[in-house]
Amino acid sequence: MPSPPGLDLPRTCEVVMKKLGRVFLVGGGPGDPDLLTVKAVRVLSQADVVVYDRLVSDEVLEIIPKTTRMIRVGKAPKCHPVPQGEINRILIHEAAEGRTVARLKGGDPFIFGRGSEEVLALTAAGLCVEVVPGITAAQGCSATTGVPLTHRGLATGVRYVTGHCRHDEPLDLDWEGLADPDTTLVIYMGAANIAQIASRLAASGLTPKTPVLAVNNGTTPCERHLVSDVANIAKDAAAAEFSGPVLFIVGRVVHLYGAAPQRILPACFVPFPAHRVDVHV
Ligand code: SAH
Repeated sequence: MPSPPGLDLPRTCEVVMKKLGRVFLVGGGPGDPDLLTVKAVRVLSQADVVVYDRLVSDEVLEIIPKTTRMIRVGKAPKCHPVPQGEINRILIHEAAEGRTVARLKGGDPFIFGRGSEEVLALTAAGLCVEVVPGITAAQGCSATTGVPLTHRGLATGVRYVTGHCRHDEPLDLDWEGLADPDTTLVIYMGAANIAQIASRLAASGLTPKTPVLAVNNGTTPCERHLVSDVANIAKDAAAAEFSGPVLFIVGRVVHLYGAAPQRILPACFVPFPAHRVDVHV
């Protein structure tokens, strides 16, 4: 319709409001795609772009539609190909363009995953962020090995600690507090420092016979287990030559390794293929 005479309005008088996209911080779990939450699967199948870490398993990536744009920002140990600031920048850029972004991380985004740092950066940029929790490595490895993290009479609690320090500085942990025989200790990112960790725990009073379970590539087809103790774990883990992520579970609960059936499944269930090599020392 022509403008009324005298009113020289532009032909299109619309306020252009750019619609911002959203970011979902998605926990990809420890590897087995069957451990993804229903919500994670829904978000991953609907996202316009998935920004993912190195620890996310190939099997989890396979559930994402082939047409989805994928951006890998993986970090290998001692190697940070995409710095955290750049990851934040990518997420902000993609969402500001109006896209639905799935930021996919291994395990749970809020356990040693820098998820909270990304939430702070995204909210500071005025974006909406939603966190979709994931099964953390401790839970996944506990389930597949049959080793509970708490058990009446063996452990009254559990602590998740990092065995990695920035710039390879010495670990600054509360060793006296951690050397508690009544609490299970789960050590993430501890493979490079396990000798230091075990000797500091023993020096702080944890009996060297305290059992230690190392789980490598937990919940994936390459899962391996090593059962040792505080006195020997450094030597045994070195001999095992693990490749891929390793989680250490320290405490009396490890005595239950092998005591419980690991998987009870209905007859119709087609299991996720597992080719395990158990390393017992
Ligand atoms: N956010 C992740 C942890 C990231 S830190 C989570 O919640 O699980 C990375 C560390 O997690 C690894 O060094 C290893 O200690 C542990 N990890 C992650 N996936 C694992 C797996 N499948 N098996 C064993 N350890 C794993």
